[in-house]
Parts: sequence; C-alpha cells; structure tokens
Amino acid sequence: MTAHTLIERLAAIVGPPGLLTDPGDLEPYTVDWRGVHRGATPAVVRPANAAEVAAVVKLCAETRTPIVPQGGNTGMCGASVPREKGGEIVLSLARMNRILGVDALNNTLSVEAGCILANIQQAAREASRLFPLSLGAEGSCQIGGNLSTNAGGVNVLRYGNTRDLVLGLEVVLPDGRIWDGMRGLRKDNTGYDLKQIFIGAEGTLGVITAAVLKLFPLPRSGATAWAAVPSPEAALELLALLRSHCGDKMTAFELISRNCLDLVLRHIPGTRDPLPAPHGWYVLAELGDVREGGAIRAELEGALGAAMERGLASDAVIAENAGQSQGLWKLRETIPEAARAEPGMLYRHDIAVAVSRVPAFIAEAQAALQARFPGIDVICFGHLGDGNLHYNAFVPGRLRADAAAREANDVTQCVFDIVARHHGSFSAEHGIGQSKLLEMSRYKAGVELEMMRALKATFDPLGIMNPGKVLPDESGNGPGRTEATPALADRYR
Ligand code: FAD
Ligand code: ZN
Repeated sequence: MTAHTLIERLAAIVGPPGLLTDPGDLEPYTVDWRGVHRGATPAVVRPANAAEVAAVVKLCAETRTPIVPQGGNTGMCGASVPREKGGEIVLSLARMNRILGVDALNNTLSVEAGCILANIQQAAREASRLFPLSLGAEGSCQIGGNLSTNAGGVNVLRYGNTRDLVLGLEVVLPDGRIWDGMRGLRKDNTGYDLKQIFIGAEGTLGVITAAVLKLFPLPRSGATAWAAVPSPEAALELLALLRSHCGDKMTAFELISRNCLDLVLRHIPGTRDPLPAPHGWYVLAELGDVREGGAIRAELEGALGAAMERGLASDAVIAENAGQSQGLWKLRETIPEAARAEPGMLYRHDIAVAVSRVPAFIAEAQAALQARFPGIDVICFGHLGDGNLHYNAFVPGRLRADAAAREANDVTQCVFDIVARHHGSFSAEHGIGQSKLLEMSRYKAGVELEMMRALKATFDPLGIMNPGKVLPDESGNGPGRTEATPALADRYR
C-alpha cells in the first residue's frame, strides 16, 4: 500500500483531529527528550479511545506498518521515537487522558493510558488518597509511558516501582484485538499474570490503553533530614537503623557524594550547604505519616540521635517546614542539571546492585576507573534504599567527538563489567530503548534473551510493535553497536 492510501485509511479511523502529517507538526514526536535520538515518521495518529487504537493497530498489522507508541516522550533511552529510516507511524496516547473513576473503598483509580501523571496524583488527592508514583517528569509523562518503562522515582523504597502499583490493564494487542484486563483485584491466581508482561516492555508487545492503579492512605505529615555520613557503609547502617526505628514510614533514602553537592553549590543559584563543615558523603531521608502533627519529626530526630551516638552520622539537619524540605530536595534534584553545566565529559550510568553490595560496588568502580582513566572524577548519587545509583564518570575538559565516543565506550564497559560481577543491572530505571542494545547482547544471559525473543514472537509475530527497541538483533549487531559514533558521547550527557 502506498503511504498515501495508508494515511487516508488512518484518517478514516481517527478523523482530522487524530492525524498529523504536516512536517512541522511531526517534528516534536520524532526527537527524544534529550535530543539524542532523531527519527522520521510519515504520520502521528492520536486516537480518542481504545476502539480507535485497535482499528489503527489492525490496519498496521494488515499493511505491515511498524508503530511506535508514544506517551509524554520524556523517556531516557530513545524508546519513544521512530528510527531514522524505520518508517514507523507514531501512535500518541495524548488524547486518551480521562480519569475513568475512583473506587475509594477498593483503594483504586481507573485511568486512560494518556493521563498525565500529575493529574492522576491530583485525582487521588481529591479522594483523600495517595498515588505514590512521583518523578521529575510528572508534569508531562503519561501513565502509559510510566507503565511501559516501569518507572521508579523517589518513593520506590516504600511503595515499589510502577509494576507494584497496578492491578489491571487494558491492552491493544499487535493484531488489533483488545484485552480487557481492567480488574481491580488484589488477589487473582487464575494463571499467568499477563499484565506484568506489558509493564516495562517499552511498547514492544502491545499498546496499553487503560489501567487500574492502587491508591494508598494520604500522608498528612512528613519529615526530611540531610545527614553527613562518614562512608557509604555507614549510610547503609543508617538506613537499617532508621528503618528499625521508623518502620515503613520511610519513603526515600538518597545517597549523595560531596562533589555532587559542590557542583550544585557552584551552578544552581540560591543553594547553600546545609551543614557548617564539608563531609565526604550525605544522605537525604524522607518520612511520611498518616498522622498529623510533629510526631514523625520527633521520631526522626530520636533515630538520628541514636545514629550519631553510634558514629553512623557525623552531623545532620531536619527541615523545620515545607520550604526547608524543598530546599534540601533541591540539592538532590538539581545534581543532573549542575553536572551538565560543568565543562567536561560526563558519562552517565543508571545502575543497580543489591542494596548490601552498594559500598563494595562504589569502592571497586572508583578504584578501577581511576586506575584506567587518570584524572577521572566520579559523580555518584542515587536511590541507596533501592540499590540504584546514578553513577556518573566525569572527565574535565572537552574531547573531540570521536575520542569522546571511544572514551565513553571504555568508561561504560569498565563500570558495567563491575556491575555484572555484582549480579547487578546496567539499567535500573530508564530501560533499554535504542541506547542499551549493545549492553543487552553483552550482559544478558543467552537464555534470558531467548525467552524475551520467544515472548516477542508470540505476541508480535509480524514485528510491528516498536521495532529496533529493547531486543538487539540476533547477531548482536543492533543499533547499539553501530552507534559507536561521535553521537555516543552525547548519549551519556
Ligand atoms: P514515553 O517517553 O513517551 O515512552 C516511553 C516508552 O513507553 C516507549 O517505549 C514508548 O513506546 C512506550 N509507551 C508509552 N506509552 C505507551 C502505551 N500507552 N502503551 C505502550 N507503550 C507505551 N524515570 C524513572 O524511572 N525514574 C525517575 O525518577 C525519572 N525521572 C525523570 C526525570 C525527568 C526530568 C525526565 C525527563 C525523565 C525521567 N524519567 C524517570 C524517565 C521516565 O522513564 C519517563 O519520564 C516516564 O516514565 C516515561 O513516560 P512517558 O509518558 O514520557 O513515556
Ligand atoms: Zn533516579
């Protein structure tokens, strides 16, 4: 079929408001959030409901037209945009943004996949409930994208990843059939848990069109502490101590190295060191409580006092009010921005190891990098409570693009080899997309890739759902490998 007739048939399904073909309109859908992956598409379809999604996907199956599902396009690994010569149409869920209903007694909320995360949080609050998924992109990412990337964010310690926050899904399968799995059940052992197969699949197995999400009691008070710790080992002990004192009230426990704070103080206006003297490492801990009042703050203060007596923390402050708490979080949240402002090459890694192995990983990776790359600096911060570090290597000064690409490859392999020795993950939060295909062939066991390929072939035998993402081609020569070009260095910025 010519592109022309395909577009006419798409237009017949979604009508004029649902179809974009003007090059100026298409552009924002073809570039990823970081501006690293640029592709091309003949059309963006914006269906209004699941029946339209199903009709679009059925037409694409019939015509063998590849599809890229797209949510808020805030993903970090180039999964949400078409490839340069892929010929994919973009299927945007943006118009499917209705809250379908709240069942307060069941503690669930049903939504269409294109709902913006912040709007879902707000709908939950209006029902005096909490939807705990929270991340920097919450004002523009969509729940369908959160589900498809199994997004993490700042509350994973207490509430889990997106995967843990879902009871039901509606999915349009790659042949255009609709699977209605919109059950709000907390117990259901009737065979395989099919919804989990689509979560974290980055749009390669089907299009999520709606979800039933879990709600939680709304916290009515909170406490935030910034504490200096002598080492990552002490930070881990502090985590254990706080958990034994405060139970599951702890929602976040972030580790921050001193040079991260230095970067923030240097580049982010209005920031200041919360403590009078510099220290090597810090943690930022957040607690939430359904009770009102200051009890939670007193609990945190007591626990930190005990930690200081045991030498697990050398100094600490607790925020007096919401403004101070935001000020402490700003020091953590602006680290990526501050690092980007520093002149030099930054190679970013989003890794996970078992929580107990974090200190050993940090020590080994730092020693290996410094031995191999003289002058390298490590900018290490992240979700210590989840064993997930944003482990960035920084090389001062600018390299030529080709040299930077070579260096990026070597630095990254050095870090990921150590991650692999610790049975860790080379992509803890951000997924695979187009950026990590090389690592999929390098670090995933053959049997794991075989099982994934078997699932892909079962659900999507025509290979039309987001091709070229997640699974490297069988020779291992996926785009990841050919991407060892000057663009590679930028990948890690
Ligand atoms: P997109 O980027 O549009 O798509 C992501 C993937 O999902 C693509 O593969 C796409 O094809 C697929 N997809 C989208 N919608 C559907 C659907 N309905 N059905 C099937 N497939 C679909 N991530 C974290 O985990 N933790 C963080 O703390 C975090 N912080 C971030 C902060 C910022 C400032 C930014 C820009 C991003 C951050 N991210 C974080 C990345 C995160 O993965 C995304 O923000 C979010 O989960 C993706 O949602 P999206 O709607 O933008 O999806
Ligand atoms: Zn993170």
